Amino acid sequence: MKKRSTARRNFIKLSAMGIGSLAMAPVAEAMPQKHLVASTNKRDTKLHIVCVGAHPGDPEFGCGGTMAKYSDAGHRVTFLYLTRGEASDPQKTYTEMAALRTKEAAASCKILNAVAMYAGQIDGNTVLDKTRNEEMTKMIVGLQPDIVFTQWPIDSHPDHQVTGLLPLTAWVRSERKFDLYFYEVNTGSETMVFTPTDYVDITSVRERKKEAMFAHKTQNPVETYNNYFKPLEEFRGLEAGVKVAEAFIHFKSKSQRANIMGL
Ligand SMILES: [Zn+2]
Repeated sequence: MKKRSTARRNFIKLSAMGIGSLAMAPVAEAMPQKHLVASTNKRDTKLHIVCVGAHPGDPEFGCGGTMAKYSDAGHRVTFLYLTRGEASDPQKTYTEMAALRTKEAAASCKILNAVAMYAGQIDGNTVLDKTRNEEMTKMIVGLQPDIVFTQWPIDSHPDHQVTGLLPLTAWVRSERKFDLYFYEVNTGSETMVFTPTDYVDITSVRERKKEAMFAHKTQNPVETYNNYFKPLEEFRGLEAGVKVAEAFIHFKSKSQRANIMGL
């Protein structure tokens, strides 16, 4: 049993070498799941993490805990929002709503020590076409990320679908220069068929993530947290053997896909 665990650990270590700077390690010997942790193989390497979201709040709700861990570890974190959430209140104009939600995103990013950027698309009307693919590829390549996190594209919200696929094209066109992970939001209502490959223990940053989520005051954050994200982080925690976790799907590079223990 012990020998098996050691072999497993080595296997994960070897896999981690393939992706360069992310260290993957199981939380305990008996745990079969891999854990993506905010530390590097080369301790002095500063990573640039880009987290893409359709609306202000998506990156925070989907992976605010993981981003807090990255920025705490000294890595650079950028949130790239496709839109400013301008269509979220029919009582307000797009300009008013965009201003309000940009302000909320700024407050939220401050809590997580992230930089906010906007891709200039319009809430509820995001576009996936040749021009937008070229724009997104240029933007992402220009940011020189080590890792990109984006929304899982199988989702009931069309803006989330677009947000999942634009960075996927950027990843393919940049010849898979960065690591690509997908995150989930409002699973059960929005994200669908999400089967995680990696988990991050967010127990130590849970309260800070909550603070970042609750900064999006116009979005009923307390209700959304209680109905979706609290049960989700606890469920992912159960899967990973920790109190609360965020879960991801790692889109592996070709060489990593052909790497199964014992073969
Ligand atoms: Zn959204």
